[in-house]
Amino acid sequence: MSQSLPPADSSSQLCDADLTALNTLRLPARAHRLARPSTVDELAQVLAERNPAEPLFVIGEGSNLVIGSDLPGLTLSLAIDGMVQVKEDDVHVWIAAGAGVHWDDLVAWTVTQGWQGLENLSLIPGTAGAAPFQNIGAYGVELSQVLEQVTVLDVVTARVEHFAADECEFAYRDSRFKSRDRGRYIITGIELRLRKQPRCDVRYGPLQAAFGHLPEHEVSPVAVRERVIAVRQSKLPDPAVLANAGSFFKNPVVNGAEADALKVRFPDLVAYPQPQGVKLAAGWLIEQAGWKGKCLGPVGMHSEQALVLVNHGGATSADVMALADAVRADVLEQFGVTLEQEPVLLP
Ligand SMILES: Cc1cc2nc3c(=O)[nH]c(=O)nc-3n(C[C@H](O)[C@H](O)[C@H](O)COP(=O)(O)OP(=O)(O)OC[C@H]3O[C@@H](n4cnc5c(N)ncnc54)[C@H](O)[C@@H]3O)c2cc1C
Repeated sequence: MSQSLPPADSSSQLCDADLTALNTLRLPARAHRLARPSTVDELAQVLAERNPAEPLFVIGEGSNLVIGSDLPGLTLSLAIDGMVQVKEDDVHVWIAAGAGVHWDDLVAWTVTQGWQGLENLSLIPGTAGAAPFQNIGAYGVELSQVLEQVTVLDVVTARVEHFAADECEFAYRDSRFKSRDRGRYIITGIELRLRKQPRCDVRYGPLQAAFGHLPEHEVSPVAVRERVIAVRQSKLPDPAVLANAGSFFKNPVVNGAEADALKVRFPDLVAYPQPQGVKLAAGWLIEQAGWKGKCLGPVGMHSEQALVLVNHGGATSADVMALADAVRADVLEQFGVTLEQEPVLLP
């Protein structure tokens, strides 16, 4: 991947940059200009030199993107590095990471220190800077549970701001950065609060099976991370081998009455009660609609995990959208449930 990136500093901007290797669905697209600032000052300089009228995009590792066509204007791929311990007390340790840090490097580092909080989020692709954007989550844990604050550069005012976790408007795969403030803030770093004494969350199925019988103090973050990695590797296609953007649809949330009615018609329905309704397993709906392992042109829904849309090679964004539309239409027809796309469509 690195050969297609310009060096990480503000002075060099690559014109007409190939983005194919910078999105894990491997969709062909180009950026009019691509810059890789490696500090907040460099980022501020790039923005100061930019014509405010030109389009601006931020990408991380492209693991949650559908790049629909070439990106006009300026695209930023942040290379802001660094993982440090900020402070500690008897119970917690606070750590900070730059937006460009590879997320799983951060998880591995914290878990190795014996700090608890990120182990369930092991092996999620992408950068630390993108993690708050959709409030990444896996195996019963969401980033919002450990996030202390997000540091951003405000594109409008050019000022550095900090948002505490309760100001980020986190929800299931959502935040203010993804919804009402989309495009306004560039996340430059995150601060997390982790526990020094493990209290791992192993309520989720495969973790419960492996650790549910053990007393809390005997379940280490390292062991949970290893288990999560093993489960993920057995279920999810590795984008380096088979291009994909992870879960292509969110798990839809319906109200209790709708869930009850569906349960009568489909007794095997996979559903999880939530405070705000009942979350349905989108993968189950897609599988029941007959799309598991099925292809439409060069794209298909994965044969092991029906929620993952894969590019078998040579696909365009039109191929991806055609399959997504077909899957969405069939699930709506059979279950009366609308699937919402998870990856962000650019431009
Ligand atoms: C195999 C696979 C498994 C996955 N599993 C999970 C999972 O279990 N849970 C989960 O939640 N996600 C999962 N994902 C989705 C993805 O890994 C996450 O959404 C990740 O956080 C995306 O990071 P990225 O750096 O690749 O962001 P990108 O895909 O490059 O960008 C995603 C969005 O974030 C914005 N963004 C990126 N960086 C910044 C920044 N610094 N400031 C402001 N906006 C920014 C972009 O503009 C874009 O809109 C998976 C993806 C794959 C391919």
